[in-house]
Amino acid sequence: MRLPLKQRSVTTWVVIPSAIVIVTLAVLQYRWSARVSEATAVRLADSLQMSLMNWQKDFFRYFSEIALALRIDPVDDRSGDLNQYVRRIAEWKALARYPELISNVYILKSGTRDALRLNSSTGRFEAEVWPERFEPLRANMQTAGVAFLKRPPVVDIGDPSGSWKFEPSLPAMLHAIPRNGSTPDWIVIELNDPEIRTHVLHDLSQTYFQGTDGLDYLIAVVSKSTPGHVIYTSDKGFGDPEPADADGVIDVFGRPYDNALGSPVHVFHMPSNEKGPAAGVRISWFPLLRNEASSLDWRLVVRHRRGGALGAFVTELRRRDLAIGFGVLLVLAINMGMLIVTSHRAQRLAQLQMNFVTAVSHELRTPLTVIISGADNIRNGVVGTQQQMTQYGSLIAKQARQLFGLVERILLFASTRQGRQTYNLKPVQVKDVIDVALASTAGLIEAGEFKVECDIEPNLPPVNADAALLSQCLQNLITNALKYGKDQRWLGIRASLSSGSYQEIQISVSDRGIGISATDLPHIFEPFYRSPSVMAAQISGTGLGLPLSQSIAEGMKGRLTVESTLGRGSTFTLTLSCAEAAAPATTADQQVTA
Ligand code: ADP
Repeated sequence: MRLPLKQRSVTTWVVIPSAIVIVTLAVLQYRWSARVSEATAVRLADSLQMSLMNWQKDFFRYFSEIALALRIDPVDDRSGDLNQYVRRIAEWKALARYPELISNVYILKSGTRDALRLNSSTGRFEAEVWPERFEPLRANMQTAGVAFLKRPPVVDIGDPSGSWKFEPSLPAMLHAIPRNGSTPDWIVIELNDPEIRTHVLHDLSQTYFQGTDGLDYLIAVVSKSTPGHVIYTSDKGFGDPEPADADGVIDVFGRPYDNALGSPVHVFHMPSNEKGPAAGVRISWFPLLRNEASSLDWRLVVRHRRGGALGAFVTELRRRDLAIGFGVLLVLAINMGMLIVTSHRAQRLAQLQMNFVTAVSHELRTPLTVIISGADNIRNGVVGTQQQMTQYGSLIAKQARQLFGLVERILLFASTRQGRQTYNLKPVQVKDVIDVALASTAGLIEAGEFKVECDIEPNLPPVNADAALLSQCLQNLITNALKYGKDQRWLGIRASLSSGSYQEIQISVSDRGIGISATDLPHIFEPFYRSPSVMAAQISGTGLGLPLSQSIAEGMKGRLTVESTLGRGSTFTLTLSCAEAAAPATTADQQVTA
């Protein structure tokens, strides 16, 4: 059935713009998601960079606090007064977040192997032999001590010879104690290694890399000079070996930006650059702890927990966002498609119903005209004799029965479609029902001068059916064969046992008439459908016969099928189960509601 021009143009005006809008949205969504993920990557990288720097700054602060508390004067010679250091260390301890951070305080005498160690219980420096573990420091101290002697009287704060040095291998903080005219002594603050690992590094990681569900990152502090030496790790196994796909790396003891070495902080930056760290930052460090070559030794390395580099995480986020976005658009497109199909169907149904009303009106008009004119003739005395009166009576009765039949069919159709029709299923002899159907249509067969070929297999078992409805169904098929049988005037009826494995009987009604086109075939069982060629040829009908027959067949647990060739004829086959085969299933409820 072709759609009216108006509806087609509405479909065009709605479908095409909607499709364009959806495609545009999809493209925009794709582009925006690229930008958003780039922005997310930058944001994540910035926040990671901030975390790394704050982590480092706090770490650094704990040692700077010691350096500040001790206040070793770079100019005056006060090496004789060691009590000031005892007092200052006690002050530091009272305020420090990690009072256990200092494990020993030594004064190393320059040029000798003499040393003084602070006895924490007596609060005094006591003489001791230079500890063996400080041996590697000796040469460096000597050089630095000589440099210290050569320094100008006022030392600027950035002067390497006048500042604290950090020795990560012990670990310890060192500072020269000036002595007039001779190489300086050294104060060595030996740090508590387990305290650094288990408390300081652990707490810092929790502070700066904690997510909603535990640590967001895998964190390790590794030694750069000794591969495989992991100072701290948040997760066992991470850091050895140092991961190549880390999201952020920072030299713990800091060094300023260096053109040759680049930035001390590296953070993953762009999603397009997933290979690893990309961005560098210029930072300068608080100069209380000077940067030695060895200060490059400790490195903080972090990697996002969500599988591999942060870039992959951002890509995954983007993929997820795109999937959600496209999913929504797909649902929108499907809804739009369904809306179009539904409205198309509704329009089509409305058109079919209109055709039905017209067809029914036509069907009603002929008998009504006959009845009205017959009644007029009787009233006007045109009918004189008793014989004429009998003729008029039977004519009016015939037309009224035809009207009654039409109304009955419409009501039956309505009740089968609404599922209200009850089926009185019981064993029925096929031959008997065919005879009844042929007898009911005998008038039409005779009027059309049809040749009827009836081939009923002998000894067929009874079928499980409602006799009256089965007969109605066959009458519909026979009436159609007569209506659409054209000039061939041939009607074939066959009944045989089905060749399939089930105990079924097939009853077929055939004609050699106009046949049904391939485009009409899928629609002929739809309510109110009539093929355009039939309507054009003004063959009477309502479009209810086949859907009604199909509903009846299905109500009796059977089926109705069709084979047809345009111009050659059609065969409608009704398949029903035999009463014996169906008996066990239907004895319980003989009354089946369709
Ligand atoms: P109608 O009252 O129009 O016959 P039906 O529901 O019985 O309604 O049939 C629907 C349509 O199927 C018919 O309009 C016709 O186009 C087609 N059709 C049905 N039976 C035949 C047949 N035997 N030969 C050709 N076309 C048929």
